Amino acid sequence: MPRPLHPRTQLSKESIFSHMSRLAAQHGAINLGQGFPSNPPPKFLLEAARRAVGTTDQYTPPAGLPKLREAIAEDLGVEAENVVVTAGATEALHALAEALYGAGDQVLMLEPYFDVYIPQAKMAGAEPVLVPMRLRDKWEPDLAVLERTISPSAKALLINSPYNPTGSIFSRTDLEKIVAIARQHDLWIISDEVYDELYFGEPPIKMRELAPERTFTVGSAGKRLEATGWRIGWIVTPPGLAGEIAGMRQWASFCSVSPLQDAVAEALPIARREGFYAELRQSYGKRKDLLESGLKSLGIQTFSPAGTYFLTAKLPNLDAETLVREAKVTIIPGSAFYAQNSAPEGLFRFAFCKKTDEISLAVERLGQYLHVRQ
Ligand code: GLN
Repeated sequence: MPRPLHPRTQLSKESIFSHMSRLAAQHGAINLGQGFPSNPPPKFLLEAARRAVGTTDQYTPPAGLPKLREAIAEDLGVEAENVVVTAGATEALHALAEALYGAGDQVLMLEPYFDVYIPQAKMAGAEPVLVPMRLRDKWEPDLAVLERTISPSAKALLINSPYNPTGSIFSRTDLEKIVAIARQHDLWIISDEVYDELYFGEPPIKMRELAPERTFTVGSAGKRLEATGWRIGWIVTPPGLAGEIAGMRQWASFCSVSPLQDAVAEALPIARREGFYAELRQSYGKRKDLLESGLKSLGIQTFSPAGTYFLTAKLPNLDAETLVREAKVTIIPGSAFYAQNSAPEGLFRFAFCKKTDEISLAVERLGQYLHVRQ
């Protein structure tokens, strides 16, 4: 080897989600780890994609296929000129990291955190600062700690509601306090709202409605339309900033896959009109209940999610890798979502975007495993 790669490649280690999916495949385990649906995407999306390949095949502008920007704007009730299409929400978050902060800056985020937030902050040269959520009977943000943690170097605050992995949806009161803090310290707000249509009670409040001047909203067609591999995401920017954000992401991927942008543009209005999201919520609500009641019947403490397709639970003295090998069930260890503080003892995340028979079988296998181990 001529010379070592840049030390930044310390960030290149396999993500916990890829790692656990690989182990699941290797051991023929049920995968309640990585959050991707077992069911196929809706037919109206697949048909639109078939029509688009061979029609929309060349580059689109970096801000996105105009027809898709319009469809997203229409769906979200925002202006199309403030929408930037990206290669999935991951690239959206990366483009924002590049555009909003750099060396010497701090980025505030809550802990447990979704795995891309920290490497992306570090790739931009900034320092991630984590504020722990409280967990007693349920997950709660500690906004007093958040406020105390802010230094003059802080430039942005990352919020995720509905929240992966906790399943929390922040209340209006909490969001208003967060906005007040952001205004006082002049912080950008990056609001990761990829699970915006996945809630089980009241719909989540949109951060951009509380702080339009400083909120970048991140969304995902993959999450909404059950096609996580399509890599079509978006950013809604504060007024006047979409050009620069699109200008930053052009250097990473120039544009997202054009026929799939076309297909998503066709599918978004159909999904809304035909009540696809309501059906999805109903179906996920049933799967959540199935998983949660199954775990409770095994005496496991669960923390019921208000949204997302994730459920957190406490299984003390359990090792996720041993579980894959011995019980053929894959879940994500809570420690994967902690970098600064240690995870609550025995915390695990279950993804329930899987078929009902997979969920039932996973609970059965877990039950047998825990019983034998006693
Ligand atoms: N969002 C998915 C999850 O939390 C994984 C995303 C990924 O693997 N990049 O499981």
